[in-house]
Amino acid sequence: MYYNDETLVYFNGSFVKAKEAGTDLYGQSLHYGYSVFEGIKSYQTDKGTHIFKAKEHYDRLRRSAELMYIPFSYTTQELTDLTYELLEKNNFSDAYIRPLVICSPNMSLSKGQESSLVLLAWEWNNGYLANKMRIMTSSFQRPNPQAFHVEAKVGGHYVNSILACQEAKDKGYDEALVLDANGHVAESSGANVFYEKDGTLFTPAKGSILPGITRQTVFEICSELNIPVKETFFKPEEMKGADAAFFCGTAAEIVALDSLDDVPFTKAWEDTASEKVQQAYLKRVRLLSL
Ligand code: PMP
Repeated sequence: MYYNDETLVYFNGSFVKAKEAGTDLYGQSLHYGYSVFEGIKSYQTDKGTHIFKAKEHYDRLRRSAELMYIPFSYTTQELTDLTYELLEKNNFSDAYIRPLVICSPNMSLSKGQESSLVLLAWEWNNGYLANKMRIMTSSFQRPNPQAFHVEAKVGGHYVNSILACQEAKDKGYDEALVLDANGHVAESSGANVFYEKDGTLFTPAKGSILPGITRQTVFEICSELNIPVKETFFKPEEMKGADAAFFCGTAAEIVALDSLDDVPFTKAWEDTASEKVQQAYLKRVRLLSL
C-alpha cells in the first residue's frame, strides 16, 4: 500500500525502485532504533507542488543526526532539492514524505560510522482525520528527557509511541494523551496538544515533548489572529472538560478532540478559537508565499 512496482525512492545516492531497495541486516538502526527521521508533507498549490516548511524539517533532521552522533553531511538545500526530484519522478503532489537516516553495518554500541539517506514518499490526504478524536490518558509516560534527546526525532523513541497508541486503540479510543514523568500532559504518540479555555490556548512547555513544527506554526497563526496562547505545564485534570482541544502535527494537521477519558470538550467546535486556527492552518499549507 505504500508503494507499487513503479515507485521510486532515493537510497544510497540514487533513485531506485522501492521494490528493489534493501538494507543490510547488521546495522544499529534496525537492531537498536538508532536512526533519525522526519515526517513532511507536500501540497498541491496554485503554483505547483510545495513542500510545507521544508527548511524547518530538514534543519531538524540534521540537528537530530548531530545530537545522535550520526555523521550526516547533506545540506538542507540538497535535501529539499532531492525531495522535489523524488516527488516529480513519482508524479506526487499531495504526499507524505519520510526521510530516514540509517547507519552502516556495526553491531557495537558506539556511534554511527557512516550513514545512508533514505527518502520515501507516498500519496496522502487527510480525509480520515475529519472526525473528532476520543482520547485517553495513557498508562505509559513519555521518555525521560534525562535518558533521551527528546527534541530529536529518533527511531527508537517511537517504541514508546507504539505502546501508547496501541493501548488506546485496544481500549476503544482513537489516540493516547501521554504524560511526562511528573504527571504533566506532554503530547500524543505522534502529535502535540493544545486545549482552549475562555478563548486562550494552552500547550505543554518544552521539556518532555518533541517541539513540533506544526506547534510552532500554531503560535504564528495565533499571533496573526490575536489568539492568546500560553506554554505551561498542566495536569490532565486541568484539560478535562475544557472548551476545546486539538492535536497538531505534520501528518495530523489540526485535528479536533472530542473527549479526554470520556469527558467531552464542551463548546461547539465551530464556535472556538481552535477552529479558527484549524482553518487558518489548512489555508496556509496551500499558500506558496508563506
Ligand atoms: N510529537 C511527536 C512525538 C511527533 O512524532 C510529532 C510528529 N513529528 C509531533 C509531536 C509533531 O511534530 P511536527 O509538527 O513537527 O510534525
